Amino acid sequence: MGKVYECEGCGACCSISNPFTGLGRCPELTEDNKCAMFDSRPDICRSDKVARSLGLTDEEYCEKAEAVREVLREIVYGPGGMSDVAHN
Ligand code: SF4
Repeated sequence: MGKVYECEGCGACCSISNPFTGLGRCPELTEDNKCAMFDSRPDICRSDKVARSLGLTDEEYCEKAEAVREVLREIVYGPGGMSDVAHN
């Protein structure tokens, strides 16, 4: 089995867009960058389901998602701005 994308909890993705209002911080994103409805989050927030809908393998999706994550982190936190962000 290939590499699977794993959320590091930085909050960058959910700070920029969300399935409820489109653009902007998700109302379900907590102050400590957790998803308040993680177990019942929509399919669009589930990397395995998004990968399937795009016809990508887990490994292909992981490679693309990690690249996008880096761009979003720089937009949200600035260059090197991740140092004080709690991520797991
Ligand atoms: S529902 Fe959860 S995973 Fe989806 S955008 Fe909101 S905080 Fe992020």
